[in-house]
Amino acid sequence: MTAAATPQSQSRISARVAAISESVTLAVDAQAKALRAAGRPVIVFGAGEPDFPTPDYIVEAAVTACRDTANHRYTPSAGLPGLREAIAAKTLRDSGYEVAPSQVLVTNGGKQAIYNAFAAILDPGDEVIVPAPYWTTYPESVRLAGGVPVDVVADEGADYKVTVEQLEAARTEKTKALLFVSPSNPTGAVYSAAEVEAIGRWAVEHDLWVLTDEIYEHLVYGDAEFHSLPVLVPELRDKCIVVNGLAKTYAMTGWRVGWIIAPQDVVKAATNHQSHATSNVNNVAQAAAITALSGDLSAVATMREAFDRRRNLIVPMLNEIDGVVCPMPEGAFYAYPSVKGVLGKEIRGKRPRSSVELAALILEEAEVAVVPGEAFGTPGYLRLSYALGDTDLTEGLTRLQKLLAEAGA
Ligand code: PMP
Repeated sequence: MTAAATPQSQSRISARVAAISESVTLAVDAQAKALRAAGRPVIVFGAGEPDFPTPDYIVEAAVTACRDTANHRYTPSAGLPGLREAIAAKTLRDSGYEVAPSQVLVTNGGKQAIYNAFAAILDPGDEVIVPAPYWTTYPESVRLAGGVPVDVVADEGADYKVTVEQLEAARTEKTKALLFVSPSNPTGAVYSAAEVEAIGRWAVEHDLWVLTDEIYEHLVYGDAEFHSLPVLVPELRDKCIVVNGLAKTYAMTGWRVGWIIAPQDVVKAATNHQSHATSNVNNVAQAAAITALSGDLSAVATMREAFDRRRNLIVPMLNEIDGVVCPMPEGAFYAYPSVKGVLGKEIRGKRPRSSVELAALILEEAEVAVVPGEAFGTPGYLRLSYALGDTDLTEGLTRLQKLLAEAGA
């Protein structure tokens, strides 16, 4: 019997934690790695991380920091003062948002930033509007903090961008906050300045909080531009929490440094919470973060060029497949094709009826790992990360094309 199926009185796992689902993205990754370990040549489009190493000068800063005994000790829970200053300076440089270092809380990655932010503002039953397709962690961190996620779906026909009308239709007396992310994981959608502003004004009008995730700010392509919500809508600043981190910009996913920028009372409350949960973020990683943020943006410029080339490689290949529709992503490093036109058709003796079943078939038959849309609140889609080398990308897409070309009636 599973923990979830055990009657409440005998349950060993709390209802709050038992309700959390496994991260499908990590599960796909684990399954693909297991197949690889067994000698199968699996190409993995699953990972949400750049395939570049952390730049050397940042690694060197960490090596030096290891030798400094001050870093062997506890430091302030909110973050090293030098890092909070560097984050405030970087925020002004990159998005034009002027904040004080005291408005910054350094966290163990963007994930903890999101969880801490929701924990600081949500009471039980508070609703948070989460545009879907959503990054799989958002609804879970809302729930963990006692809130109720409310999906608003935008499909490929809308380039995966929700409108103010849709948000307004989802708003109730209990709506406390909106989750906003642009560029988006899993779709790569980037909202225009006018769209960002309209959404910000709607939030101000209804006195809502907005948690805005800016982690992909430097990964935008073509004519698309990143715009920071509290910069375009300054009236929102008192109820705006910006989430950001080093993971995607400096290829530092494993270092675990992120942050929130929020009004003082939220930072104070979230710091108190963090002081009991995890205390300070690893000092060595924080020292490396100071060096990263104080340096230039040439490393991310190189990655951006590579990702731009790769999206232009894989998206046309996806659209060549019958039954597959994929808008061109304008940011991040994910493509999010609809595969609704393939579902229900016979492929190698099987008839996948959901994107979970299709992803399983693709892994088994084409040895290509992709993440099914169920992980992002929208069945009928697949997410492909294009943070992998050009040869693997072409080979993976060719295998996918061959397999799906077999789809019968
Ligand atoms: N926000 C988004 C939209 C993401 O895709 C990710 C990473 N997948 C994060 C936040 C968190 O990144 P990290 O915890 O590694 O800093």
